[in-house]
Amino acid sequence: MTASIDKPRTNVPQFTTERQFSAIEAEVRRAIERVLASNWFVLGNELQTFEQEFAHYCGVSECVGVGNGTDAIELALRACGIGAGDEVIIPAFTANFTALAVTATGATPVLVDVSAETATLDPARIALAITGATKGIVPVHLYGQPADMDAINAIAKQHSLWVVEDVAQAHGATYRGQPVGSLGDLGAFSFYPTKNLGAYGDGGAVVTDNPDLAARLRVLRHGGIAEGYMSVVKGRNSRLDELQAAILRAKLPHLTVWSERRREISRRYTEAFSHLEGLETPLEGAERYHVYHLYAIQSATRDALASYLAERGIGTKVHYPHALHQLDAYPEWKEFAGQFPVAEQLARTVLSLPMFPELTDDDVNAVCNGVRGFFEDSRNGSRARTE
Ligand SMILES: *Cc1c(COP(=O)(O)O)cnc(C)c1O
Repeated sequence: MTASIDKPRTNVPQFTTERQFSAIEAEVRRAIERVLASNWFVLGNELQTFEQEFAHYCGVSECVGVGNGTDAIELALRACGIGAGDEVIIPAFTANFTALAVTATGATPVLVDVSAETATLDPARIALAITGATKGIVPVHLYGQPADMDAINAIAKQHSLWVVEDVAQAHGATYRGQPVGSLGDLGAFSFYPTKNLGAYGDGGAVVTDNPDLAARLRVLRHGGIAEGYMSVVKGRNSRLDELQAAILRAKLPHLTVWSERRREISRRYTEAFSHLEGLETPLEGAERYHVYHLYAIQSATRDALASYLAERGIGTKVHYPHALHQLDAYPEWKEFAGQFPVAEQLARTVLSLPMFPELTDDDVNAVCNGVRGFFEDSRNGSRARTE
């Protein structure tokens, strides 16, 4: 096969694990070898040590490793006693997995719109959604930005509700100097490979400062089994295995530097795009350390922008093209069309640009030039109109 001459020379993926693996390959291989040599694969030393290290990282006393982030949310809610007949408030704009985790407990998710500034749960709208059946709130730190936790915790306290943070996208973010995951009653993390701290497979964890909740989680994740093989509750089988725990231990010491690099890249993007008309850069809420799991711009012409960038070898993705009430899996929510205007607006306009710590300065410049090129071309009217 011969290379086509008009193929773009630029190749900047929206995300890849490849470059990070090259950088830390020796450490990861040592971790894997350690597990193989130990002959112990589930619920062993690696998990126990990772749980201590990750709890410390989150500024809490307890961490319980589970199979994935969805299970982490589900089991955290179940540890609070939430289940059938209960209602749990979640944002209308998040990964579908947040809603799935709530339904897996038997409880009903209740959608609340997000704030236009931060794309996280809008505290001003929560009170209206509270009923006698409401038992919990699951704020999502979307794209790496902490939700407005002071306001959310105040409402939760007033109505005696549990707060389970969905921290799948925000490992290491802080809110008023406090690490996310430590702000609610429990924090549920995902270590899916694309996340800021990613395993090489599925993984998740729940963190908390409450030892009783942690003890319940340890029973729930392991078949509901307590002492003496007595199954005390219909639990789940959902554990973070030794290989993934060892790999996460190899990666955790790098996380702070990786978050800093994500923020540096986001600053460059925001600077480069600040003067562009027709594009909105992500806003950082006050007193937040945003860790930019994703750098999502908003544009009414995002589909045309995505195609333009793809032609130039720059990858993008849409997180997410639908608000939760627009998903076919939830026909019961279709009647809410028009009721969550911010979520619907985000679904129409967001576009995630390349974002991972191993992007080079040249990559970042290529993205900046690509995006600027699109808006300059369209201003000059040289772009064929797609609408
Ligand atoms: C990834 C993600 C989840 C689910 O995590 P898994 O490990 O894939 O189960 C939940 N919520 C949000 C916001 C996510 O981004």
